[in-house]
Amino acid sequence: MPYNELADFVTLMGGKPYRARQIAEWIFQRGECQFARMTNLSRQFRESLDQQASITCIQEKKRQVSVDGTIKFLFALPDGMEVESVLITEGKRRTLCVSTQVGCKLACAFCLTGASGFTRNLNAAEIVDQVIRARQLSPDGRVTNLVLMGMGEPLDNLDNVIQAIKVIIDQEYQLVGARKITVSTAGLAPGIERLGLELPKVKLAVSLNAGDDITRERIMPITKKYPLAALAKKLEVYPLPQGRRITLEYVILKGVNDSKKDAEALSRFAKKFPSKINLIPFNQTAGIPFARPTKEDVGRFKEWLVEKNHTVMIRDSKGADIMAACGQLAVEGGTDS
Ligand code: SF4
Repeated sequence: MPYNELADFVTLMGGKPYRARQIAEWIFQRGECQFARMTNLSRQFRESLDQQASITCIQEKKRQVSVDGTIKFLFALPDGMEVESVLITEGKRRTLCVSTQVGCKLACAFCLTGASGFTRNLNAAEIVDQVIRARQLSPDGRVTNLVLMGMGEPLDNLDNVIQAIKVIIDQEYQLVGARKITVSTAGLAPGIERLGLELPKVKLAVSLNAGDDITRERIMPITKKYPLAALAKKLEVYPLPQGRRITLEYVILKGVNDSKKDAEALSRFAKKFPSKINLIPFNQTAGIPFARPTKEDVGRFKEWLVEKNHTVMIRDSKGADIMAACGQLAVEGGTDS
């Protein structure tokens, strides 16, 4: 719960207001999972907390470290289900990619999570706790940036995602600032509007991957329900703060979405609102029927977009050797082996 609710709860239990700050420090800074160990609270108060509240704690089950320093955590949720979070180091930045669902309903053709189907939504506490645990387990104890683009579609679990982000950005908890958080969606158009209204400072990224409906439908079935025109309509009115742009993520699949015609379609779409484009060369993954583009393919595609005056970055995914890169997260997909 956000800090003001925690403070109200503590008052309701007869505790002094400063107790809320102590509890917040135990949970959010020290990662404590048991009231009984909060030794600066009276025994009686700890016991009543235990009777009336619980702390959701996820457990680290496995950790893999990539040659590039990327760390992939496998976390067990309280009911034994599992999700993955990935911590990426780039200079001083420590970006944590968190999961919002066990599996995913959207079945994007290039994604292992989609291939494993959908099991359940994560609740807000399970999303927040990925940040607390990863920070504890991070080599230098830091998580500076957050992206919600691990397993699952955040806007398909919007109530919990909004609640989690409100807790994460709560100044009393000192986890991650709103401007350092990116929510990435595969294009669930209705959720985009609500996200913008409730969390205007959070950054928005759209996993686009094709600028025309026919190609996009082939790789992202959600396009059938929300075609690109419907998606663009929501993005055109998204309440962007001054100077901000929407990031369009584009996974390049060799021979599927990497032609000049594809670049032109992407350009037409991207010109409808302030945007920047991230190109991500697909990571060859067993069981996924797409091929990685060559460096030349990627360079050419970028040039076509630059000629049309777009801001374009090539983002080669980190952690590919430990299956931690974009689209490679799946608990039942061989990533454990
Ligand atoms: S890419 Fe994202 S939205 Fe698509 S199936 Fe994978 S997890 Fe779901």
